[in-house]
Amino acid sequence: MDAERLLTLWQSAHGTLRSDWRESFLRRPEVEQLCRLPEPAVLAALSRSRKLARIAEIAADEAWWFEGKPCEEDALSWCARCKPHPYPSVVVITMGWGDAFHKSEDCLWLVKGQHAVSARGGEVAPVQRVNIQVALGSGKLPCLWCFSPKPPPPERKGVVPGSARLL
Ligand SMILES: [Zn+2]
Ligand SMILES: [Zn+2]
Repeated sequence: MDAERLLTLWQSAHGTLRSDWRESFLRRPEVEQLCRLPEPAVLAALSRSRKLARIAEIAADEAWWFEGKPCEEDALSWCARCKPHPYPSVVVITMGWGDAFHKSEDCLWLVKGQHAVSARGGEVAPVQRVNIQVALGSGKLPCLWCFSPKPPPPERKGVVPGSARLL
C-alpha cells in the first residue's frame, strides 16, 4: 500500500480532509509504518480509530494473523477462530441495504437510515442479528456510530462537513 491509498481509505472511513490536512496526514511518521504492514491488517484497524497513532498500534498488533503466522491456541495459519477483531460475537445488520453492521438495533444511525428509507416511500429492510463472522465475511463494515470510541460529532475539525460517510 502507498501513502495516497492509505489516505483514500482513511477518508472513506472518516470523511474527506481539507487539502492542507491531507498534506500533514501524508507527512506523519505512522503513514510509513502503516504502508509496510499487510493491507488487510491496516483496513481492519482503520475503521476503529481516526487517530493514525492508534491505527498503527492496532494494525501492528494484529499483523501476525494477516501474515499467516500460526495462532498460539490452535497452531493454525489464518485461524478463523483466532482472527483478531474488536467486535461482539453477535451483531446487527439490515437485509437489503446498508454496508454496515451495528452493536444493536437501537443504533442512532441505523434508526435514522430506516426513517430516511420510509420517508422516501421505500420499504424498510428487516434487521437481523447475525454472527460477527457472517457480517465480516459478507464484507460489511463496522458502523462508526456503534464502534467508534466516541461517536463523531457531525462536523469535525479538518473534515469537510457533509462528506463523511455513514459506515
Ligand atoms: Zn486459532
Ligand atoms: Zn450502528
